[in-house]
Amino acid sequence: MKHIAIRGSGIAARGCAHILTGVGLRVAIEDTHRPSVPTIMLSDPALGLIRSVFDRPDLFCDRPRIRRRLVAWGGPAVTVPHGATLTSEAGVQAALPVSSEPIDGPTDFTIHAAPPLPLGEMRIFGERHAIAAQIRLRDPAGAEEARIEAVADGWLYLVPGQAGTGWLLGVGGPIDALLGQSVLIAPVVDAMGAATTPFLAVPRLHLPLYGADWLACGSAALGFDPICGDGAAQSVREAILAAAVVTAIAEGGDREELLSHYQAMLIAAMRRHLLLCAQFYANGGGGDWWRAQHDALMDGHRYCTALLAKLPEPRFLLDGFRLVPRQAAA
Ligand SMILES: Cc1cc2nc3c(=O)[nH]c(=O)nc-3n(C[C@H](O)[C@H](O)[C@H](O)COP(=O)(O)OP(=O)(O)OC[C@H]3O[C@@H](n4cnc5c(N)ncnc54)[C@H](O)[C@@H]3O)c2cc1C
Repeated sequence: MKHIAIRGSGIAARGCAHILTGVGLRVAIEDTHRPSVPTIMLSDPALGLIRSVFDRPDLFCDRPRIRRRLVAWGGPAVTVPHGATLTSEAGVQAALPVSSEPIDGPTDFTIHAAPPLPLGEMRIFGERHAIAAQIRLRDPAGAEEARIEAVADGWLYLVPGQAGTGWLLGVGGPIDALLGQSVLIAPVVDAMGAATTPFLAVPRLHLPLYGADWLACGSAALGFDPICGDGAAQSVREAILAAAVVTAIAEGGDREELLSHYQAMLIAAMRRHLLLCAQFYANGGGGDWWRAQHDALMDGHRYCTALLAKLPEPRFLLDGFRLVPRQAAA
């Protein structure tokens, strides 16, 4: 197995391509596009991971920084120090070019880092939607702080942008209605621009995550709740594992065993994420909306627990970008 097709243009596709070409496999990228997110925040651990995977120790060192978070989550607002860098999905793609070569004839394996997948369906754990809108900040001094606030019917997340602007994400209802319930974020918002159409903002897991000659990677495989702010790093973690699985298959490893390990690891990641989210939604508020979100997340957690109970114990461990049998590592 030498010729790998990768579908997608996001950070998952780029991570897979970078690692696989590094081990000598040929990759052909098929670009796919959707409107990209104009501002994303990469925490220092997330950026550290991306820098090390792509061998780019200076990546985004010139981008604006976030130095604190103001959080009002089921109690009075607190200020906590925070280290993060602001960029955009387009900025990530421009900064991480990939080399792709045309491959004559059929490819041996496809990494789907973009929808649609060849078969199966996306299981979603809840029903809430998000809306984003560009805003103007009342005070430019807020350029280094992000704000997150739980309100009666949902939550709001404010990320500063360039030149006194920012992006406001509202989850749970119309963004102006949520802003009307806000005490932490509303006072710093001067004006709000047009809002996006609502988009799904719940954890989601595609099953199956693989077939005989393909696997799913990145947000096409597994989507995180935006509350965790870790979507880009999660896609990179999946890319590391996907590339390690493909490398091991190319080197003669047991295909079914490796692909099944991949699926189990992603289900386990989703299970951890669901529990983390459930804790946030348990603490955000006491109304019906908050209880319904929490219960749907715990249903999802039980669903993933039941799936994992039917799967064997993990048989491999990651050692850098390679998988090694667990016994050999012990
Ligand atoms: C509003 C918003 C704010 C976010 N903020 C943050 C943040 O602050 N920090 C963070 O780490 N993450 C954030 N994320 C998540 C982060 O942007 C994604 O998790 C990350 O880009 C996923 O990368 P990916 O390569 O897995 O998939 P994507 O980049 O989502 O997509 C992979 C490929 O699939 C294509 N594609 C996706 N959907 C479709 C479709 N429907 N039709 C056709 N092609 C499609 C894309 O064009 C791309 O080529 C945010 C996401 C949203 C929506």
